[in-house]
Amino acid sequence: MASSWRELLQIALLHLCVLLPGYTSSRQVRCLQNERFYRDPDRPAHTVWTGQECSKYFLCLEGEVFEFRCSDGLLFDVNRQICDFKINVDNCDITAEPKIPEPLLEKANCSKRTQLGCADGTCLPPHYFCDGSIDCADGSDEGHCDSTKERYAATLCDVATCALPNCFCSNDGTAIPGGLQPTEVPQIITLTFNDAINSDNWELYNRIFSPNRRNPNGCPIKATFFISHQFNNYYYTQKLWNEGHEISVHSITHRGPEDWWSYNATLEDWFDEMVGEANILNKFAYIPLQEVRGMRVPFLKVGSSRQFLMMKEFGLVYDSSMLAPFSNTPLWPYTLDHKMPHDCIGTMRLRSKQCPLRAYPGVWEIVLNRLFVNNRTCTFVDSCPTNISVENLYKTFVQNFKRHYFTNRAPYGLHFHSSWFKKQEHLIAFEKFLDEMLKQPNVWFLTNWQTIEWVQKPTPINHIHDFKPWQCKENFDTFEEICEIPNECKLNNSILQQERYLHTCNDCPNSYPWIRNEFGKE
Ligand SMILES: [Zn+2]
Repeated sequence: MASSWRELLQIALLHLCVLLPGYTSSRQVRCLQNERFYRDPDRPAHTVWTGQECSKYFLCLEGEVFEFRCSDGLLFDVNRQICDFKINVDNCDITAEPKIPEPLLEKANCSKRTQLGCADGTCLPPHYFCDGSIDCADGSDEGHCDSTKERYAATLCDVATCALPNCFCSNDGTAIPGGLQPTEVPQIITLTFNDAINSDNWELYNRIFSPNRRNPNGCPIKATFFISHQFNNYYYTQKLWNEGHEISVHSITHRGPEDWWSYNATLEDWFDEMVGEANILNKFAYIPLQEVRGMRVPFLKVGSSRQFLMMKEFGLVYDSSMLAPFSNTPLWPYTLDHKMPHDCIGTMRLRSKQCPLRAYPGVWEIVLNRLFVNNRTCTFVDSCPTNISVENLYKTFVQNFKRHYFTNRAPYGLHFHSSWFKKQEHLIAFEKFLDEMLKQPNVWFLTNWQTIEWVQKPTPINHIHDFKPWQCKENFDTFEEICEIPNECKLNNSILQQERYLHTCNDCPNSYPWIRNEFGKE
C-alpha cells in the first residue's frame, strides 16, 4: 500500500498539478476510498462546470482526504486522472472514475477448463487477460493488472540464461555489458531528434553535423532521427541517411490526444502508423526496410503489448520511449526478455500503466535516462528549465555527462526537438559542449543502432578503433544514392483536406501519403 501512495502522489506532481499547502486534509469532502483521484461528491450542481470546481480533486487514503488543484487554466480530467486544458476535459460532471470490477478468473468455473472468467462470468482464453486491450465487456480483464498478478508476466532478469548478443539484462539495469570495468568502456553520446526534417531545421542539422566534427576513429559524428511524416522532407532524410545517420520511425500522423497512443491505439493502428512510416521512408527516401530499426512513440506514450507485438511482428529492433526514474547511476539499454529493471513511468489508468508486462524476447529498449537541470529532472532537453545562462547550460551538459562517465558509462542520451535551438544561446552552449567532448579521446557520438551493436559485442577501448560497426559508412547501392534535384510534389490529402509538399528523388505520387495510403496511390 505504501508504495502505491507514493506512486499516486508522484503522479499528481508529475502532471503539473499543485498540491495545496501542507497536504491539507479537508474536513468537508467525503472519503471515496478507491485509490483514484475524484471530485467532491457533494459539490453544488450549479458549480460543476466552473473552473474553480473542476480544477479541484481529491484522494482518500486510509480515511484521510487529500485535496489537490490543477495549475492555473487547467481542469482535472477524472477519466484520464490528469490535469489538462479546458477543451480536452469533458467530464466535470463525473465525480469518480467508474470502478472496474475484479475478474472472476478461475472462480468463474468456465466449461472450457483452460479459460478464465470476466467479472460478469464471460469466459475467455487466459492470454486475453492483461494483454493491454479490453476483451471483457466490463473491462475487468485489464482492470487489475500488475506484474505480480499477470500470469504471463515477464520473469525477473536471469543472467544465467540471458546471454549476449540477443539478450541483455541486469537486476537494476545499471550493469555494464560483458562485465567490463568502467575504465574499459568507450563513452557513447547519443543525440536524437524528433519529428519532421525540413527547411525549418535543415541548416541547423548541417551546422551541427559539419564534416569536421569527428569521432576518435576519424569518422564523422552521427545521430538518430525519429521521423514523423507530416511536413517531412524525404530528400533531406535520404541525404542524412546517406551520410550515415540513423533514420527511425515516430508515426505518420503524430495524432492527439496524447493518451490515444497508450490506451486506444489498436494493433492495427500501430501497424498503420509505424510500419506505414517505414514504408514511406522506404519508398520516398530509398531507405531499405531492414535499416529502419527503431521507433519512438509520439509524446512517449508507450502502448503496452500492442506496440511491442507490432514491433516483434514487423521486426523493429528497438524502442526508445520508456523513461527511467532519475538515478545517480544511469541505466544501460536492455532487452525485453525479462521484466524491465525500473518502475514504469506513465499515466495510470484502468489501474495499469502502459509499459509491457509480458516478455518480448530480443526486442531492445534504449531507455531514456533523465537529465538533472537546476534541481529538476527532465527527459527532452527542450523540457528542461530554460532560464539559465549559456555558461550554466554548458555546465549542465557537462555535469550530466560526468554522471555517466564517472559511474558505469551508460550511453548518455541527449534528446531534442529542433525548435529548442532557435534560441541562439542554446545552440552556442550545445556546440561548446559538443566541441569540448570531441577533444576527449574516449567519447563517441553514435546512432542508437551503433550503440546496440556495441552492447551486443562489448568491445573494450583498446580494441575499439577496429570495431566494425563504428567505422565510416561505406558505399551504397546506386539506387540508394541521392539525386541531384528532387521532385517537389504539391499534393492533396483528402483526410487533412489540405495540400502538402513532398520532396523526394522518387516520382510524385497521386496524393499526399497518409495512413492506409502510404504510397499516395489513391
Ligand atoms: Zn514528436
